[in-house]
Amino acid sequence: MPVTITIPTPLRQFADGQSEIQIDARTAGEALDKLTSTHSELRRHLFNDQNALRNFVNVYVNDEDIRHANGPDTPVKEGDTILIVPSIAGGAAVLDEIAGKDAGGPEAGMPALPMLSNEEVARYSRHLIMPEVGMTGQRKLKAASVLMIGTGGLGAPLGMYLAAAGVGRLGLVDFDVVDASNLQRQIFHGTKDVGRPKIASARDRIEDINPHVEIETHDTKLTSANALNLFVNYDVIVDGTDNFPTRYLVNDACVLTGKPNVYGSIFRFEGQASVFWAERGPCYRCLYPEPESGLPGVRRQSDN
Ligand SMILES: [Zn+2]
Repeated sequence: MPVTITIPTPLRQFADGQSEIQIDARTAGEALDKLTSTHSELRRHLFNDQNALRNFVNVYVNDEDIRHANGPDTPVKEGDTILIVPSIAGGAAVLDEIAGKDAGGPEAGMPALPMLSNEEVARYSRHLIMPEVGMTGQRKLKAASVLMIGTGGLGAPLGMYLAAAGVGRLGLVDFDVVDASNLQRQIFHGTKDVGRPKIASARDRIEDINPHVEIETHDTKLTSANALNLFVNYDVIVDGTDNFPTRYLVNDACVLTGKPNVYGSIFRFEGQASVFWAERGPCYRCLYPEPESGLPGVRRQSDN
């Protein structure tokens, strides 16, 4: 009964460069034994001297971690996929070491990517088993920072998903307090938060979703006097305010600091979303040189 074993990039050099290998096996352990008897160099990277899987090696059958199933005895059937996901235990760069280079793959001159703890590996396992994300992608998310302007109707869902997904550092800019009329859409904030500063309830919510996220609150209105100093400390800027003065201010400050500008706007059942990055393409002013009527956002100057 053939199953497919997916080999992670840093280990392919020990498996003749193959990314997938078909093996007949009845259990995950049998599949790994057969794999590593064919590719013996792989064995010392996956197993310790006691023939147990190294603790930084995570093995999934389909999307289930075998540690949460029957370990090596976890049964496999035809068509199943076995995924090997090396992580980093205790902060040691084991993976980098076995790959003989930095497995995180940052471009030359970029700082090395942060490691994931075992708790983070468990938390993000659904990302780690996606080839489009994987260990490198998750470490890139952890290394990333996003400045969110506004914690309201757009900022709240956005910030919650960024936090859940594992973006390492989130900056929150808001000066407003929670009003009962916000609660129907601004899901950062709950009934008990009415009257509190929005950045306080947003912080509480993010910490509950993901305590691994570093949160920086900026209890201020974004102005032309503070925008540049705020923006330079983040990788990506998100304008969740959905009002024209802030939209043009965010655009101009992003152009000046070279930051990507994530924009969203809604009106009733209409919405727009885009990313503007002047270093790679047009900015918001290229599209709309001046505020126009009839665009989403033009009718609501303050509350999003
Ligand atoms: Zn432009």
